[in-house]
Amino acid sequence: MDKYLPIKCFMDENGIGYREDVTGSECTTFKLGGAVSLFAEPANQEQAEKLLSFVTENDIAFFVIGNGSNLLITDAGCDCLFIKLSGELVEYRIENGMLICGAGASLAAASRASVLAGYMGLEWATGIPGTIGGAVAMNAGAYGGEIKQALKSVKVFCNDGVIEMEADKEAMGYRKSPYAYPDMVVLEAVFELREDDGGARERMEDFSARRRDKQPLNYPSAGSFFKRPEGNFAGALIEQAGLKGFRVGGAMVSEKHAGFLINYSDATASDVLALMAEVERIVYERFGVQLEPEVKII
Ligand SMILES: Cc1cc2nc3c(=O)[nH]c(=O)nc-3n(C[C@H](O)[C@H](O)[C@H](O)COP(=O)(O)OP(=O)(O)OC[C@H]3O[C@@H](n4cnc5c(N)ncnc54)[C@H](O)[C@@H]3O)c2cc1C
Repeated sequence: MDKYLPIKCFMDENGIGYREDVTGSECTTFKLGGAVSLFAEPANQEQAEKLLSFVTENDIAFFVIGNGSNLLITDAGCDCLFIKLSGELVEYRIENGMLICGAGASLAAASRASVLAGYMGLEWATGIPGTIGGAVAMNAGAYGGEIKQALKSVKVFCNDGVIEMEADKEAMGYRKSPYAYPDMVVLEAVFELREDDGGARERMEDFSARRRDKQPLNYPSAGSFFKRPEGNFAGALIEQAGLKGFRVGGAMVSEKHAGFLINYSDATASDVLALMAEVERIVYERFGVQLEPEVKII
């Protein structure tokens, strides 16, 4: 055989799996962006701690990715190590009214399971396509709910190694949390649930129906692209500026929900960034409001 396949994945002596050249279309819900040179997937807490200690002690540039549902990787890609929690760290369980989740677990799956097990407190979260770690880091929220309301404690990797602490709800605010990369890496989160008042399942289904009705879920996106400006809604301002359906290359302001920038047709990250800049410029000229991306741009 005179042909060979280049090595694209391998394992180190600690059993941590790596993949090379993972593209933005493989690791983000926007389904676009350049390649990440190396992707590591620690499968348990010990592996995650070893890897994080090694990269921090050796000053190796790294980024912690959840489900990539709030991320835009530029077309140039990223020449650093991406760390994605996997294996045992995507598991969750319910014990005595507590939902105990590995930080790589799906927020949608874990919150749905909590409702089906007879609890409430996370029924608003079942349509958010992120991980538990990403949701804690972003203090994700919807329909009046926020992660911090039910969050009881977190286990994180930080400068002092792995520590567990009670959640400091005061320190968590609109899309911000102290338990976030680069300061901390969430490894586990515990949520305190309440007994279902009899309406949790109905509320969960109603929220899902509202999402299907209002959001362009059939196109790749990162959800609402901009932060909510003080006293206003980004989507409403963009719509009032007449920008629904406005396109740059393959990126478009959704016709269904103006707060969503969507990958309409083979968009590049540059298309999305150019669209973002145009939307910001036009909204500022019309209303004097400076929009800011909620999506993390790497
Ligand atoms: C269709 C759609 C609907 C959405 N609806 C909502 C919504 O209703 N409400 C809402 O709040 N968001 C929404 N989002 C945005 C997104 O799903 C949330 O922000 C989610 O919490 C991001 O989680 P993730 O795992 O994908 O994080 P990523 O996008 O991978 O990362 C986001 C940030 O979190 C950090 N991070 C990830 N994991 C960890 C960890 N273990 N420790 C420390 N930091 C970490 C990353 O470094 C990055 O800075 C939506 C997105 C889509 C595509």
